[in-house]
Amino acid sequence: MQLNLYCTKDRVKKPVTALDGQTLKMYTCGPTVYNLAHIGNLRTFLFEDLLRRTVEAFGLPIIHVMNITDVDDKTIRGALEKNQKLTDYTKPFETAFLEDLQTLNILPATQLTRATDHITQMIALIETLLKEGIAYAGDDGNVFFSIAKFPAYGALSHLKLSELKQNASERTATDEYDKDSASDFVLWKAYDAERDGSIFWDSPFGKGRPGWHIECSAMAIDALGPTLDIHCGGVDNIFPHHENEIAQSECATGQPFARHWAHAEHLIVDGKKMSKSLGNFYTLRDLIDKGYTGPEIRYTLLATHYRTQLNFTLQGLDASRSALNRIKAFVERLHTADGHSKGCVGPALEKLKIEFFDALSDDLNISVALASLFDAIRQFNAWIDSSAVSKDEAEQILKLLGELDQVLGVFPLKQQDEFIPPELTKALKKREEARQAKNWAEADALRDQIIQAGYIIEDSPKGPTLKKD
Ligand code: AMP
Ligand code: ZN
Repeated sequence: MQLNLYCTKDRVKKPVTALDGQTLKMYTCGPTVYNLAHIGNLRTFLFEDLLRRTVEAFGLPIIHVMNITDVDDKTIRGALEKNQKLTDYTKPFETAFLEDLQTLNILPATQLTRATDHITQMIALIETLLKEGIAYAGDDGNVFFSIAKFPAYGALSHLKLSELKQNASERTATDEYDKDSASDFVLWKAYDAERDGSIFWDSPFGKGRPGWHIECSAMAIDALGPTLDIHCGGVDNIFPHHENEIAQSECATGQPFARHWAHAEHLIVDGKKMSKSLGNFYTLRDLIDKGYTGPEIRYTLLATHYRTQLNFTLQGLDASRSALNRIKAFVERLHTADGHSKGCVGPALEKLKIEFFDALSDDLNISVALASLFDAIRQFNAWIDSSAVSKDEAEQILKLLGELDQVLGVFPLKQQDEFIPPELTKALKKREEARQAKNWAEADALRDQIIQAGYIIEDSPKGPTLKKD
């Protein structure tokens, strides 16, 4: 099948294709590891996971490169505040991010690239831009990209420089700014002892460190070559980050940088973007502590189309829990169904498969795909009620659910995946903490809570687990 996906630059849905006809080269902007990711960030990574899984389900192999932004203003500030080496400061956040991906069943990137491992490539790109006369050194020691030298500047974000009061001599050394302050942007930041402490690299243009935008250009080109098939991120990346990536990369290589641009809309709370700077954010761990599970959170963040803002609420998570419980109850019925075939299951499965994947092929239309799934479940349940589903047919249904779940990644398909109420999983975790702290009274109280709920604690090689008594 062919996936048609909206392209931010061309403003149309267009086929996702591999330039070499074989493997799709996808680059996605990764997290800045100065903090735990919030669930807005994770929504964007889940969109990219849905995209990747759909491309793979449609039979196109993919190389997925994701970066880790482990050097920028925020990581440096954090490391200096904690009096730590930069990597000692960023590493725990990188590890936590990878754990979050696992909790949400997000496939790991084929290649994870760290900015600090690519400083040489960044310097080489900047040298090329200086040689071409596109970059220039300011009298403050910073190196800037001259946007006037790249006539296509603004093509991604549909920004018309001529319509802005843009002053050619204006420039900015900060990484993030709005469209109306479009200006020459920084490629290399000269060392500033007060701001940077002991964190700097030597370069032909003096000691300092790369600007944020050049980091992604260097890593993407290094891993995937001058032209990517698809480049993704959240909508806040469109300007200036991705616009600047295009300008730097195309001026340095003379080749088109990315053939397709895809962006996920924001997750919002009370009408505002969820962000660390506004302080209105939940991390994944906050929600797990409230008793929600990885699949429930994954489902919530996936079930709204990626180009629509998602207004996050805890009620939304509860609705996902109900939806997943319906699927779970259905799967349990399938494991015991033993009726007499009336011949209706086969055509219904065919219809579901076509509708589900057709919907995804149309710009990842997840709402239509899920609606066709729940319609089919309603129908199958009615047939199970009247004993019209044979054991063999039940297995065929389970097989198709498995195929759909290659993309959705949320179904409790195996019978032995016993559902454990999240509050009990939480109680078990707390009991382990209490035991480690030798707080026996609390540990015993938590054990009693688990037993009263009808579960027993079993030891396993992975540590204690819960089982229905
Ligand atoms: P950062 O760690 O800030 O570099 O962001 C990582 C990714 O999360 C980027 O692709 C951002 O565009 C995306 N992002 C940031 N805030 C949100 C939000 N509220 N909703 C969805 N995506 C977001
Ligand atoms: Zn990036």
